[in-house]
Amino acid sequence: MIKKTERYDVVVCGGGLAGFCAAVAAARHGTKTCLVQDRPVFGGNTSSEIRVPVHGACCHHAYARETGIISEFLIEERARNHDQVIENGAVNSVSDMVLYDIAMQTPNLTFKLNTSVYAVRLAGGVVRTETPLATVTKAGYFHRPSVPGPRRIEAVLARVANAETELTLEAELFLDCTGDAVVADLAGCEWRMGSEGFDEFQEVHAFPTGSTDTMGNSIHIHARDMGHSCPFTAPDWAVKYDDARFFYEQGRPPGEPRGGYWWIEIGVPWHTIHDNETIRHELTRHALGVWDWMKNRDAKLKAKNIANYALEWIGQVPGKRESRRVVGRYFMTENDVQRCTVFPDEIAYGGWFVDLHTAGGLLAATSEPASAEGYKADSEYIAKSNVGPYGIPFRCLLAKEVDNLLLAGRNVSVTHAALGTVRVMGTTALMGQAAGTACALAIRNKVAIVDVPVPAVQQVLLRDGCFLPNTRNTDPADLAQTATATASSEAVVTGLAVDPAPKPLTHRRGQFIAVNGALRHISVCLSASQPQEVRAWLQPVDHIWEYRVDTGKVLAATTLRVPAGQQQWVTWEVNVAGNGYFRLDLDKNPAVQWHAAPAILPGHVSTFAMSATKMRRYWNIGTHAFRVEPPQGCFAAGNVLSGVTRPHRSTNLWRSTALPSWLELAWAKPQTIGSVELTFAGNLVSEFHSYPPLYRDPQCVRDYTVEACKNGSWEELLRVTGNYHRHRRHPLVPVSTDKLRIVIQATNGDPVAAIYEVRCY
Ligand SMILES: Cc1cc2nc3c(=O)[nH]c(=O)nc-3n(C[C@H](O)[C@H](O)[C@H](O)COP(=O)(O)OP(=O)(O)OC[C@H]3O[C@@H](n4cnc5c(N)ncnc54)[C@H](O)[C@@H]3O)c2cc1C
Repeated sequence: MIKKTERYDVVVCGGGLAGFCAAVAAARHGTKTCLVQDRPVFGGNTSSEIRVPVHGACCHHAYARETGIISEFLIEERARNHDQVIENGAVNSVSDMVLYDIAMQTPNLTFKLNTSVYAVRLAGGVVRTETPLATVTKAGYFHRPSVPGPRRIEAVLARVANAETELTLEAELFLDCTGDAVVADLAGCEWRMGSEGFDEFQEVHAFPTGSTDTMGNSIHIHARDMGHSCPFTAPDWAVKYDDARFFYEQGRPPGEPRGGYWWIEIGVPWHTIHDNETIRHELTRHALGVWDWMKNRDAKLKAKNIANYALEWIGQVPGKRESRRVVGRYFMTENDVQRCTVFPDEIAYGGWFVDLHTAGGLLAATSEPASAEGYKADSEYIAKSNVGPYGIPFRCLLAKEVDNLLLAGRNVSVTHAALGTVRVMGTTALMGQAAGTACALAIRNKVAIVDVPVPAVQQVLLRDGCFLPNTRNTDPADLAQTATATASSEAVVTGLAVDPAPKPLTHRRGQFIAVNGALRHISVCLSASQPQEVRAWLQPVDHIWEYRVDTGKVLAATTLRVPAGQQQWVTWEVNVAGNGYFRLDLDKNPAVQWHAAPAILPGHVSTFAMSATKMRRYWNIGTHAFRVEPPQGCFAAGNVLSGVTRPHRSTNLWRSTALPSWLELAWAKPQTIGSVELTFAGNLVSEFHSYPPLYRDPQCVRDYTVEACKNGSWEELLRVTGNYHRHRRHPLVPVSTDKLRIVIQATNGDPVAAIYEVRCY
């Protein structure tokens, strides 16, 4: 056995997306960082070994897609990958290699693959390889109280598989992103595992009593259409499935012949950590049994030509959903998530629904309530589960017993019910980037991690392309904040083309409309075969994620009269004024069609009422067909200085009317500029796996130059061609100028240019 000791500023344990983003963030900010991952590839559950696609807030909230390092990865993954991502089971090695490439390109980052952390060395040289086991408390769940001991980790001890090498990795700060909270457990942190009962926090999703129930582990399968018949015989030891109701009535429809199936899941009666190997074997027996059913007995799949499909991959590393949850300096509950508590120390956000699988998985009566209901968009269950976007506080990432340990990923300080939403990888990646950034600031400023000023972390995160729901760019070093913005042209909102496809008002529906000044008329494009009436309301809203049906502030209300006929513009004289967003709602009337626009107008999204009190993103329509008079100037050049890089309380977007076009920043006095940082439009509305292979967002600016005005003439500072990334940072040879221009020659498809933010340093 070879023994090596290495020293870093930060050691990140666990190379899932939380750990990966944490390590990249810390290293990019100049911190000597080591990332330790016990598998041969990065990505954790989204590696080609497990194959879970990244979900996040965007699935439920338009424009809520996670940005920052996670989006750099996913934009690059879609641009490079030749293959489509289906729900589960399709993530391939291209995805692994994009992560590997990012790691390789990150200065200050060392990584150790196939390396498993198994012990910690605490202050004073105390090496801990084990801690007392948890007991089942009166509250019903596993609880391991804090273990008395030193408050500081000096090193983690790790073994490199197949290399007879033992590593001692010393550091100032440690990040536990192992999912199972391996480091926090060894360091003596308090943790829970199981489900809290209702009495403890009165959470909407809590069961009446607490229990040791967790969500289970899963493996996926992937099949390929071979173009000819491929028989399959299951081994004797596979589980035999015979009952179609098990699949089609209990939330496990094998609708996609290529596989996937997150519901090949087993947890209780086994323990998701200690019985992981038993679970893996059981999952293998079940997975083969599911495929046997699909190939040989499923009548529905015969119609999908299942005979020609062959099973080409079966996962052998169970993906884990839930195990230890560390109790940190703030214990976030579902109540915070439901109420969107505004935390002064928000450093990430979430917006996936409270997605709690039925304990037992394949062994339970149903896989998961929402799936068992067929994801019915307006069911009571879905209405109670839809949450966010909500902020996540930094304190959830801070261990309370150990002064130099942070957490990120599914092992953070939340209840079982809150885990149901924060656990998706878009969200865990944001937590990781925040934790890594905080570590870098602590190291740079030589302060303890608990003393890092959170406003500074927030500002760095925003500068690095992230979004926080309640924080905007106020960076005093950003010279653009003191500039005035003008542009070659500014688009206005007047009216939209009409998609003739019928869209009956089966539910109350809402349309967010950006306004900037007086609004006299709104028209909507409606069809009806008989004369109809529809109730309409106009409400001022704080932002585009206002989902209360009744916001308590109605600006105007009317009954629209709809004559019989197709695609008629029905006009409402509203005579109001505002600056931000209004939401126009039309009440339910299935005899009336409110047509959609053929494409989303940037920042103009729509909702529908899934219950009497709550709305949600309208899946099928980005923007309804509407017109406003006078035209609204909501894409002005000045929006690039709003401090927010996506539609939220206003569009925050500059949009031109043609190409080429330019955006100019001007200052009263010359400024010395050494860096220009740009946030372009695109990549925010849909989840990445809905994008086709080799995708480049059409809205994203492709070819551009940055120019400075010197002695009255424009000088080109840099030229970029072929861009498809949303966030670009351009270091410059420092230039003194009082005018700077971004000149856009081409986008990746849109006929106009659009920019969310320009920063100058
Ligand atoms: C089948 C399944 C389907 C899911 N569906 C979705 C979905 O569609 N979309 C979505 O976003 N989320 C989904 N989730 C949830 C999500 O995948 C997890 O919550 C998420 O992966 C947690 O992120 P993480 O970084 O904390 O953990 P992980 O992704 O598990 O990463 C932790 C990493 O740490 C490593 N590690 C563990 N112990 C050690 C050690 N001792 N030393 C070194 N390394 C260690 C692990 O190998 C792993 O790679 C699903 C989960 C499962 C299991």
